[in-house]
Amino acid sequence: MNIDYTIGDDIVSIKTHADSEHKEGELFKCLRLLPSNCNCAVYMVDIGKKCTLNAEEIGKCPKCQTIIKSDGIAWFNATSFKKLDTLVNISELTEILEQPAFN
Ligand SMILES: [Zn+2]
Repeated sequence: MNIDYTIGDDIVSIKTHADSEHKEGELFKCLRLLPSNCNCAVYMVDIGKKCTLNAEEIGKCPKCQTIIKSDGIAWFNATSFKKLDTLVNISELTEILEQPAFN
């Protein structure tokens, strides 16, 4: 398992969802993480989206298709997201601010 964030972190989509439920570069907050109850050792993440499809269809393990949870929440493959690197963003912002407004 190689996710670098935990509950409460700001996360960014790194892989557009097949049904465009989230798109690469979109920001979310990790509300809940759920380990799969199959043998795939995957995590599912709740980014605060309700199911727009059949709940049983969207709470499935991305690898073996075992139904992990069907609670009306759209659970996504946790590896489709990574932690928003705020340090990088702040240093980029500082560079911009240090440049003279007119040159
Ligand atoms: Zn599985």
